[in-house]
Amino acid sequence: MAKIIDGKAIAAETRAKVAVEVKELRGRGVVPGLAVVLVGSDPASRTYVNNKEKACAAAGIHSEKYTLPESTGREELLDRICKLNRKKEVNGILVQFPLPKGLDERAVIETIDPQKDVDAFHPSNVGRILIGDYRFVPCTPAGIMELLRHESISVEGKSCVVVGRSNIVGKPMAMLLMHANGTVTICHSKTRNLTDVCARADILVAAVGKPKFVTADMVKPGAVVIDVGMDRDENGKLCGDVDFSRVEPVASRITPVPGGVGPMTIAMLLKNTVTAAKIQNGIPVQ
Ligand code: NAP
Repeated sequence: MAKIIDGKAIAAETRAKVAVEVKELRGRGVVPGLAVVLVGSDPASRTYVNNKEKACAAAGIHSEKYTLPESTGREELLDRICKLNRKKEVNGILVQFPLPKGLDERAVIETIDPQKDVDAFHPSNVGRILIGDYRFVPCTPAGIMELLRHESISVEGKSCVVVGRSNIVGKPMAMLLMHANGTVTICHSKTRNLTDVCARADILVAAVGKPKFVTADMVKPGAVVIDVGMDRDENGKLCGDVDFSRVEPVASRITPVPGGVGPMTIAMLLKNTVTAAKIQNGIPVQ
């Protein structure tokens, strides 16, 4: 039976540490601030944005929400970002994706000041991650590294397999595991013999977006299994990319969905916002 990694509890600890840091910064006259931009009325995006706002408030971080209509044009959106780039009270800018059809996510990412890019999607931050000289890391992979650290799971020398190569999860995840001295394999939809490749992993990260995709035969006995997926099963119930009930008896540690990786994502957003505030105020970042 695997030990279940309690992402909710670890995220609560991380958020509490962030709140202490925010208090200290406020004592020095620095109030970390996050601006969240939401375009359109996608219900899931709305929920994510509201949760981020609440998390900021709980940690003492100033937050500003900009809700723009579905009809917002490219120039109007980029102009809003430029204004936020200049706004002193705003240390971090997050534009909630996906954007309505017709709006260019790349242009949005490239317009955000890299020093305020708390999602770490800007090419300059992506490049910094690649060369191992980074201050911001996309929140989901950063959260996973925090989970591994918290659970004292060493990455060094381990065989790490990441299934998925998206810019927001798979690729940065692979980079972080490599920087932690793991031997990393990235899999995707064209990978051959996926089951065999996965079954060699000491640490298996599933970021595929397909419900219960990772089955027990893909998992080496005793492996650590990290499930990034946020999917719906045949009954519409939230589940992950891992067939939890069958994989859990094989793995040594496993993250559940919900309550695993998900809660860490917001905690890391708060952490990145504090980092941004420190950088912009010339305060050393540990
Ligand atoms: P994505 O952009 O759709 O990427 C999915 C990746 O999976 C792609 O690289 C794709 O390969 C690969 N893939 C698809 N089918 C495959 C197959 N049959 N075999 C092997 N690889 C396959 O998804 P994403 O944004 O990375 O998100 C992945 C999952 O994580 C989703 O469920 C999402 O909701 C969830 N998520 C959760 C959080 C959180 O906070 N918990 C945050 C972000 C995302 P190709 O590149 O070849 O197409």
